[in-house]
Amino acid sequence: MPPLIHAKTGPRIVVVGAGIIGLTSALYLAQAGFSVVVVEREPGPCENASKANAGQLLYDRIAAMAAPGFPASQAKALFQSDQGVHVSGLLHPGRWPWAGAFLRQCTTAAWQRNTSALLEIAHRSRSAMTTVTNRYALDFDWRKPGKLVLYSTAAGLADAHEKFEFQTRFGGRHEVLSAAECVTREPALKGTTREIAGGIYLPDAEVGDCRKFGIALASVLVDQLDVQINYGVEILELVRDKSRIQALRTRNGLINGDVFVLAAGKANANLAPGRFLGKKPITGIKGISLTFPLGDAAPDLSVTDTTGKFVVLRLGNRVRVAGYAMFSDDPEITQSHVEKLTEKARGLMPHAALFNETPDTWVGFRPTTPDDLPMIGRVHSENLFVNAGHGSLGWTLALGSAEILQEKIGGAFGRKDGV
Ligand SMILES: Cc1cc2nc3c(=O)[nH]c(=O)nc-3n(C[C@H](O)[C@H](O)[C@H](O)COP(=O)(O)OP(=O)(O)OC[C@H]3O[C@@H](n4cnc5c(N)ncnc54)[C@H](O)[C@@H]3O)c2cc1C
Repeated sequence: MPPLIHAKTGPRIVVVGAGIIGLTSALYLAQAGFSVVVVEREPGPCENASKANAGQLLYDRIAAMAAPGFPASQAKALFQSDQGVHVSGLLHPGRWPWAGAFLRQCTTAAWQRNTSALLEIAHRSRSAMTTVTNRYALDFDWRKPGKLVLYSTAAGLADAHEKFEFQTRFGGRHEVLSAAECVTREPALKGTTREIAGGIYLPDAEVGDCRKFGIALASVLVDQLDVQINYGVEILELVRDKSRIQALRTRNGLINGDVFVLAAGKANANLAPGRFLGKKPITGIKGISLTFPLGDAAPDLSVTDTTGKFVVLRLGNRVRVAGYAMFSDDPEITQSHVEKLTEKARGLMPHAALFNETPDTWVGFRPTTPDDLPMIGRVHSENLFVNAGHGSLGWTLALGSAEILQEKIGGAFGRKDGV
């Protein structure tokens, strides 16, 4: 079959996926002087996991999901009506390898190791965000309001504080607040009916609309950096030739390149099965977001209710509520999920949004590895790289991950500059 897209001069890199990870990868690679082509099966950028996520950019108090207390807390949560985490999908045989690997990460040593590695990428992302936004003036409802993480019991608050102390070793600030201080700090909590024993205030937390960022970035890539983005093109398989990837097969022909980057999120596993990618499987953890018009008392801070497992924050002139973590591949949103999430958000901040209006609803799948660390680097072929598996932190980790990818590809193929 004839090539669908013809090569420009110089090493040509083909990136699969125009989610936030693929687009930021393309940015760093184009800035480093590579000729870059992005291929995306959807009609536009950020149509899957990067579309309507919670928008939190939390650079110094993030943690790996696999923690020592996770199995016990989930067993307990099965008997609570307010739970937003549904682990029953892990009983499906297809997820057993992932579940087994995840449980092996639920130790203190692994949690600390994985959390440190996430913080390192996040710190790179924070400085990269300043550089990138200064350079390209992107509009994506970016704010730096800080964040409040609420706990319904004193024990929960104490446990969280202990974990935050570990993260303090890597910098950043946090402050423990009483329930009354939480309401003073975020007046949208006035009249709350949720149980609040106290909270932890994170003054450095930021928010921004991931999809708006992706759309603005896609324009920069095409208009200023000569990147070619091909929407509506699905990659069916990788065409291998001994130790190299030769091309990508589509319905309309082959796409040739010198280097290939898989940034296909949850779908990476379909393109390159586990043994080929390395040892880490990726599973999709389903989440939901609801976007409402602003109410009379919209929040300034981003607020997480840890008992109900949801977050409420303002993005521009909308309020977004995001929650649920379900091990499920079902793309449907049930009315019951919408109602429960709406009621929890209304209970937390009664006048934050126009909760009686029909929200924009969205389902996304967090592309999650057992240790919660993304895979960034070369995989089993001299010209195949991956940047995927960012779980619940892909928006936060995107720029730092792209920088790491570009360093690795630049090291191997001779372009070491970049941002
Ligand atoms: C409810 C929810 C809330 C979240 N909140 C936050 C948050 O507050 N902060 C944060 O940092 N992160 C958050 N996340 C996580 C974040 O959204 C993801 O980690 C991130 O979007 C993953 O980006 P990605 O580019 O890897 O995947 P995607 O955005 O899914 O991009 C992959 C792209 O590859 C394309 N693709 C796949 N297969 C093919 C193929 N064969 N051919 C061509 N194209 C292909 C897909 O169409 C897709 O566009 C949240 C996620 C969810 C679900």
